[in-house]
Amino acid sequence: MQGIVRVRGLVQGVGFRPFVYRLAKELDLHGWVRNDSRGVEISVEGNESALSDFLCRLKSGSPAAVDEIEFEKVDSGKIARDFRIEESREGSAGAGIPPDFPVCAECLEELFDPSDRRYLHPFISCTRCGPRHTILNRLPYDRKHTSMERFILCGPCRREYSDPSDRRFHAQTNSCRDCGPRLSLFDAGGKPVAGDPVANSLDAMLSGKIVAVKGVGGFHLACDARSRDAVSRLREVKRRPEKPLALMAANCRSLSRLALIIEDERRLLESGERPIVLLRKRGELEGIAPGVACFGAMLPYAALHYLLFHEAAGSPSGTSWLDEEQELLLVMTSANFGGEPIAKGYEEAFSGAGADLFLDHDREILVRCDDSVMRWNGNAPQFVRRSRGYAPAALKLPFPGSSVLAFGSGYKNTFCLTRGDAAFLSQHVGDLGSAASRQAMDEAVEHLERVLGIEPEIVAHDLHPDFHSTRLALGYAERRGIPAVGIQHHHAHVCAVMAEHGITGAVVGLALDGVGLGADNGTWGGELLLADECGGFSRIGHFRALPGGDAASREPWRMAASALYSLGRKDEISARYGRRGEIVRTMLERNLNMPETSSAGRLFDAAAGLLGVIDATSYEGQAAMLLEALALEHGPVAPLEEGFAVEAGVLDFLPLLGVLSGTGDPGYGAALFHATLVKGLEHWVCALSGSISRVVFSGGCFMNTLLSRELGMRLERRGYAVFQAEKIPPNDGGISLGQAYAVLGREAACA
Ligand code: ZN
Ligand code: ZN
Ligand code: FE
Repeated sequence: MQGIVRVRGLVQGVGFRPFVYRLAKELDLHGWVRNDSRGVEISVEGNESALSDFLCRLKSGSPAAVDEIEFEKVDSGKIARDFRIEESREGSAGAGIPPDFPVCAECLEELFDPSDRRYLHPFISCTRCGPRHTILNRLPYDRKHTSMERFILCGPCRREYSDPSDRRFHAQTNSCRDCGPRLSLFDAGGKPVAGDPVANSLDAMLSGKIVAVKGVGGFHLACDARSRDAVSRLREVKRRPEKPLALMAANCRSLSRLALIIEDERRLLESGERPIVLLRKRGELEGIAPGVACFGAMLPYAALHYLLFHEAAGSPSGTSWLDEEQELLLVMTSANFGGEPIAKGYEEAFSGAGADLFLDHDREILVRCDDSVMRWNGNAPQFVRRSRGYAPAALKLPFPGSSVLAFGSGYKNTFCLTRGDAAFLSQHVGDLGSAASRQAMDEAVEHLERVLGIEPEIVAHDLHPDFHSTRLALGYAERRGIPAVGIQHHHAHVCAVMAEHGITGAVVGLALDGVGLGADNGTWGGELLLADECGGFSRIGHFRALPGGDAASREPWRMAASALYSLGRKDEISARYGRRGEIVRTMLERNLNMPETSSAGRLFDAAAGLLGVIDATSYEGQAAMLLEALALEHGPVAPLEEGFAVEAGVLDFLPLLGVLSGTGDPGYGAALFHATLVKGLEHWVCALSGSISRVVFSGGCFMNTLLSRELGMRLERRGYAVFQAEKIPPNDGGISLGQAYAVLGREAACA
């Protein structure tokens, strides 16, 4: 019997063809396998039982994430005499893009085996591990389409590459010390530093220096996390005074002094995606994550990271040291400066300046990709940032349609490209405030379109005309002559969660967020929306609006003043805040530059301001994170029953704010705020949801686990089905997916 098998899914760059080859040999089947535009194509002939065995094991035993296997009987008349891996067929691509993989266990064994020919080779990899997405120029995934192209395989590496019994059979990233990429070290003046780059980098860090380390998706700024001076210098260099910095440790055991790690978190840390995981603090490392409840930590994933820890451990042979506690803790934070994208090449890292040394290598990073950030929320993992290891793996939409390019929101930005019912949500691009980051956005869009071979037919964007993402979207649509559709910000938040859960039909969408432009041109952010898959929505409720304005988003004391004003306690504003209070009071009285906002984020700010937790923030969400940490530390309290009111769909927490203003204990106040917020939200949803029993949580405030967990539990107890962001972040990182869903929903509804 003879036939053609077509395999779809994430089947390129994961050792699938070598797997097929070995399987065919084992079952004595003849023919060939090759990558093609949609995945992998296999021509086979052999007896019927071997063939059916073959099809079975393609799915169950394969190293790839196979979505679909199609078998078509053919009779070509040609008889193959063996089984071969053939050249890939070129053409517009359609297979999934493989993510970057951490060094596998077998490669680690070799890396630290002094008798192995790849002993301490920083670019060791095999068919199961190594970078993929960040070195890929286009599909199909072949060496010549990656930045490994310029490294010509030496004799021994070529023999492995061509030997079906070898783990490196058709490993596109294969290399050794003789033929592979090389490390180099430069000083702050750009001069090469002689000697071993790894040992010299480690020495520098141990003496308090900052080293820019080229990793998988870009440069990190690294320093010894135990050195207070080094950490504070790194904060200066990065212009990041307080926002938490991520750590890297050799293993979980080395983190246990600092953080409580539960089993689910350990699994996340050790997973093949190697995200940064937010861990509940146990000890304090000064300057790393001031005031907040969690540390972000990750484990090594590139061979180079392992080499640094290995050097610090005294260069032991073998891998048993990797199970032992290691002293070294590194800060590993994306090398970006003042809102610019993560540096991917030496020139960018160097021009950002600030580092004392630059640990570089000559394998080009073709697309920037920051580390992913996750947390375990008690029941499920939750994304803070979906990037390396996950993006741009496709999410399945509940309906197919035109190819949409959705530009996101402009903050914590991602974009989303669709084909059929597959939505490719990009890696984190970040804030689009700088020209360099907008350029990086253009590059990333161009890269994803090219790799996937998609030409967008519709553009989606936020309603806000001043968002950089909106401007980029409109410019793009005009250049291509394709339509552009605006989607309201909080509607997009809700749609993002509907999309990832494949929801069709009506839902109540609870969007608790910073601010976004409303359909009425107002400033929204605490919204109850009625939505369905047809791409429309109605606003059935919102938070009571308080005067806010742009400055209030960075200065919680202004929101506190605004709350006091709304409570009719104007005189207290100047009593509390003196001269600056008087100015704000005058502005409030004359309604100058104080647009009202129903934002839930600003409610957190007002509470933090009134409790005296923080006056001015240095990063987004800081006030809410400090409040959450205080509430967690304090422990649960009973809600303030008279702390909220609902009238004509408007949820009013002003009474709660009034009580908080007179609370002397910030810990108790923070706990009371959370308890009453949850209680008020529960009441509000129940009062307004009518016959709809599905509730979708979305928006940046749901990064707060106290809120998402408690409210979720309470609504479920009341019989609601609650849907939360799990495969995407609840913050603006998910907006582009929601925009794409809304546009395709409208299209389907109109058809
Ligand atoms: Zn490997
Ligand atoms: Zn070699
Ligand atoms: Fe938002």
